[in-house]
Amino acid sequence: MLKVLKFGGTSMADAAQYHKVRDIVLSDPTRRVVVVSAAGKRFSEDNKITDLLYLCYAHLQYGVSCDTIYAMIRERYCSIRDELGLKTDLEGEFDALREKMEHGISREELVSRGEYFSALLMAEYLGFEFIDATRWLYFHYDGTVDQEKSYAALRELVGEGCAVIPGFYGLMPDGKIRTLTRGGSDITGALAAAALDADVYENWTDVSGILMADPRIVDNPKPIERATYSELRQLSYSGAQVLHEMTVFPVREKNIPLNIRNTNDPSHPGTLVSEEFVEPRSSQQRFITGIAGKRDFSVVTISKKGMAGAVGTLRSIVEVFENNTVPICYTPTGIDVLSLVVPTEKLTPHLYSITDELRSEVHPDSIKVSDNIAIIAVVGRKMAFRAGTSGKIFAALGAQGINIRMISQGPDELNILVGVDNKDYAETIRVLYNAFVK
Ligand code: ASP
Repeated sequence: MLKVLKFGGTSMADAAQYHKVRDIVLSDPTRRVVVVSAAGKRFSEDNKITDLLYLCYAHLQYGVSCDTIYAMIRERYCSIRDELGLKTDLEGEFDALREKMEHGISREELVSRGEYFSALLMAEYLGFEFIDATRWLYFHYDGTVDQEKSYAALRELVGEGCAVIPGFYGLMPDGKIRTLTRGGSDITGALAAAALDADVYENWTDVSGILMADPRIVDNPKPIERATYSELRQLSYSGAQVLHEMTVFPVREKNIPLNIRNTNDPSHPGTLVSEEFVEPRSSQQRFITGIAGKRDFSVVTISKKGMAGAVGTLRSIVEVFENNTVPICYTPTGIDVLSLVVPTEKLTPHLYSITDELRSEVHPDSIKVSDNIAIIAVVGRKMAFRAGTSGKIFAALGAQGINIRMISQGPDELNILVGVDNKDYAETIRVLYNAFVK
């Protein structure tokens, strides 16, 4: 049994958080590989170390002194070390880095140092080996990860041991440091879990899992206990702020479950994401998994008599959108009528060329464009087995006087989408949450 853990910035923010991390890791001997972020915010107005490092680089570029910012970064790590009674020679490390900055350092190398210092300290604190990301996370020249080479290298380095690894960066074929996208330590953690064929990838953050709805809209939404990878994809596509797609990809590919946990509430089971679950018939779990949505869609509705049976019309319509590089998000259909739901900001610059081209290519009876539409998805793998879900949605929204402008069910019965006016967006989410969850 092997668990790979990743701790985010708030879990690495100060000595008290390091203490919690150590308790979590050492409470389970199978928690052998730990990926860490740079120190994050301790309170809402605080600075993230990575942001300060980007700022340092900007100062260097403009020839302005970055001494004050650099001192803040140094002080943050030295105080963590001192409070924990560790011995790592951070002064030597920071002096050497400052020297390198004077002689020209790349932006990616400089901003990667937050994770590097976090990992050095955490390795000493846990008594684990420090394995630098440059020793295993290899990129191709095009910036994609060389999975085969990276996985083999990490397996060799970790063996049966215990290790701490910095997240967020790796090595280019020319020996230069390259960073992943912002928040990329999640991806490092997933790659490490996949490399080592871990039994679970635990992603430790400061919330108890993924929430069933946006907490800015619903008061105290409940966390999702279990979700399949497909549901997670649906929720993030529909607007939920969950993990980046790239995070999920390496672990999903290897069928490794992902467990999102809270460092500040370690006994909470968080959210477990897996390819599938064996659901007991008497499952007490909630019927829907989550609700997510986005505002500002446009719906382009094209009607043409006989369109339903005609060959090639759909292709011609889709081609017009493709030629104008406008992505199509959803396509609810009727008989002889088809709607394309697209983001308004993508449609607006091409609206006239699209309607012109549709007229000449498709010869429709009418084209109607409605703006200010919000699309809300009710997602749940169990909806497929239960009658009356759509009825419940209609009834709940109807009772609150919310006009449904569009409705569509995914063919996999994993989601039901409702389109409402932008102004009804938040209320729709609240009404659906109350109807299905409360
Ligand atoms: N420290 C990096 C960032 O702030 C990466 C991470 O925390 O995942 O984006």
